[in-house]
Amino acid sequence: MTRVHNFSAGPAVLPESVLQQAADEMLDWHGSGMGVMEMSHRGPQFTAIAAEAESLLRELLQAPAHYKLLFMQGGALAENAIVPMNMLRGKTSADYIDTGQWSQKSVQEARRYGQVNVAASSASTGYTTIPPRETWQLDPGAAYVHICSNETIGGVEYPATPDVGDVPLVADMSSSILSQPLDVSKYGLIYGGAQKNIGPAGLTLVIVREDLLGQALPCTPTAFNYRVVADNGSMYNTPPTYAIYVAGLVFKWIKAQGGLAAMAAHNAAKALLLYGALDASGCYTAPVSPECRSRMNVTFRLHDERLDAAFLQGAEARGLVQLKGHRSVGGMRASIYNAMPLAGVQALVDWLHEFERANG
Ligand code: PMP
Repeated sequence: MTRVHNFSAGPAVLPESVLQQAADEMLDWHGSGMGVMEMSHRGPQFTAIAAEAESLLRELLQAPAHYKLLFMQGGALAENAIVPMNMLRGKTSADYIDTGQWSQKSVQEARRYGQVNVAASSASTGYTTIPPRETWQLDPGAAYVHICSNETIGGVEYPATPDVGDVPLVADMSSSILSQPLDVSKYGLIYGGAQKNIGPAGLTLVIVREDLLGQALPCTPTAFNYRVVADNGSMYNTPPTYAIYVAGLVFKWIKAQGGLAAMAAHNAAKALLLYGALDASGCYTAPVSPECRSRMNVTFRLHDERLDAAFLQGAEARGLVQLKGHRSVGGMRASIYNAMPLAGVQALVDWLHEFERANG
């Protein structure tokens, strides 16, 4: 078996020990005579698997008791609709911060359900910064303030949670959740697809303050009404059972590594190594402003774009795959989520140096 270093933005690399355990338990989970995929979601085995996953997640995040942890489906793009449906709560408008392509998608979708005020945008810097908090034109009557904590395509990340006062803060954390300790109490709601730091695609995580539930728009599909999902322990309809099981194994893996503080140190070391190499070179540029560079998605360009194909081809030959930037922006992107080992980043840095020596 040969495993590559997979820099995909998502679905993304998972811890090898998790994949191994899932493989070992594929045909017979803990002597049940069944694989997890074959279990009733209401049976005792799967109920125990889901309960353990939820409790590990609560422990990792140290989420307060008045926050509900929901396992949903539909991905972050579905949440772009589900959030306004549930969170407008009788108000007419919400504030959104535009930091790139994913927050723009959130804005476009929310406009179908209410008024959207783009309270700040980093368009003028080509989305290489986070707009300074003091420039945000927030509306104190807004239902919520929406941010994308980490723009997966642009590689821009909030260095800290912004203070938005009493208006609930809502964050799309698809590509940064569980990468570092998080003060859940600063948020009204956090959501994200699982397929980067958590597990297989198909599972969507929602963490929501309980007092915000119960005022969904009448048009909200019942399966997407947070109150209903919460009251039914994320089992109003059949949840993505296998994805929840693998996510539970990932949560256990994170805990065994030392929890979110250990993840933060691991991710900071990888980001430092890679950005350091890019900044020191005469062959590559990392366009994002240093204070808001993503620790998860490192975007960079070759000075000479004509060398892009040769760079990618040489990388692939060395087992470094999925480094091509998003099709909308070009360039390169190395996604270095929790499960990417330091050795993977070191191998990429070695290739950056080798390629520069040959072409510099
Ligand atoms: N938001 C962010 C920040 C993302 O990275 C992605 C996926 N790359 C999405 C939203 C869309 O997620 P999904 O495809 O799971 O709906």
